[in-house]
Amino acid sequence: MSEVKEREGYFGDFGGSFVPPELQEVLDYLYENFVRFKDDPQFKDEFNYYLKEYVGRENPLTFASRITEAWGGAKVYLKREDLNHTGAHKINNVVGQILLAKRMGAKRVIAETGAGQHGVATATACAMFNMECIIYMGAEDTRRQALNVFRMELLGAKVVPVSSGQGRLKDAVDAALNDLIENYKTTFYLLGSAVGPHPFPSIVKHFQSIISEESKRQILEKEGRLPDAVIACTGGGSNAIGAFAHYVNEPSVRLIGVEPELAPTLTQGVPSIIHGFKCLVLLDEEGNPKPTYSIAAGLDYPGIGPEHSYLKVSGRAEYVTVSNDEVLAAFQELSATEGIIPALESAHAVAYAKKLAATMSKDQIIIINLSGRGDKDVEQVFQMLKK
Ligand SMILES: *Cc1c(COP(=O)(O)O)cnc(C)c1O
Repeated sequence: MSEVKEREGYFGDFGGSFVPPELQEVLDYLYENFVRFKDDPQFKDEFNYYLKEYVGRENPLTFASRITEAWGGAKVYLKREDLNHTGAHKINNVVGQILLAKRMGAKRVIAETGAGQHGVATATACAMFNMECIIYMGAEDTRRQALNVFRMELLGAKVVPVSSGQGRLKDAVDAALNDLIENYKTTFYLLGSAVGPHPFPSIVKHFQSIISEESKRQILEKEGRLPDAVIACTGGGSNAIGAFAHYVNEPSVRLIGVEPELAPTLTQGVPSIIHGFKCLVLLDEEGNPKPTYSIAAGLDYPGIGPEHSYLKVSGRAEYVTVSNDEVLAAFQELSATEGIIPALESAHAVAYAKKLAATMSKDQIIIINLSGRGDKDVEQVFQMLKK
């Protein structure tokens, strides 16, 4: 790792910023402000205040005794991001970025959303911080996720359906970027995962690192030692990078990201540029981003954060896939044994942990990052199991 020349905004050869000059100016301004405020004591106090009083942190690191017994190997702990307000880890990043937006004098927050989860988290925090909120969403996605559109509207956001292109996430990203270029003086673009051009991956990691800051302290309190493995699902990679951050320099801790078998970005991707940054991307024979599919909407993305791309090629982290059947089984097993219904995204991490735990000894420790709760997925699983 020491051979890698540290370039600003790069993780090894990945990351960077490949955008038009007018957008680059906006990103430079954002980076300047991020650097200025991220370690500012008052800013940190304010972030911690809202994490505690609004998000409900710190959340527990729960020893899952029944699943440990059922799997018959390593001790299993669950980092409970599912207990956060709005039911997932996304709110950590949203609160951090909105506080930054306020410091930068923005009055208006824009975001893009695919299935709606990031849009709902953004609309939630905008309501609380009294910010105007515009959510761009592919027209096709607004039809498939009508209830999430209503949720965002209840929270006071304006949802703008984007019908250009295929009316999907990528088109919503383009619309949001156009808005930003036109309105950057008053507007903050709130990105939802550890992806995008520099400095977004670093900003998102900074705010999500609270996950491993807490879990490290908690496991040392409970077990007096570090875990042997930390496991998280990867869509764009924000919950995983937050869950890994404070262990990256602890070589005894295995870091494992879990992908859907039909969106194996890190397992099968090649270096390429997508959405303004370089990462591992799934490409078809013609070199275009390949359509991905996941039963978990939050994992359905053909790219991945640049830092995960680097952790993969440098060998520091491992990335694996699980099948839909394994995910569905894990969803049901965690529900029935621990009384915790996981998000379908998080059930990917649970599914792999089951296979790994069985190969480990009883004095070893696994932490599963439970990125979210599964209430949102119950109806979908009901339909899938009926068939
Ligand atoms: C959005 C989401 C994910 C995937 O996003 P990452 O940026 O990869 O963390 C995972 N789990 C849940 C519950 C989500 O809502």
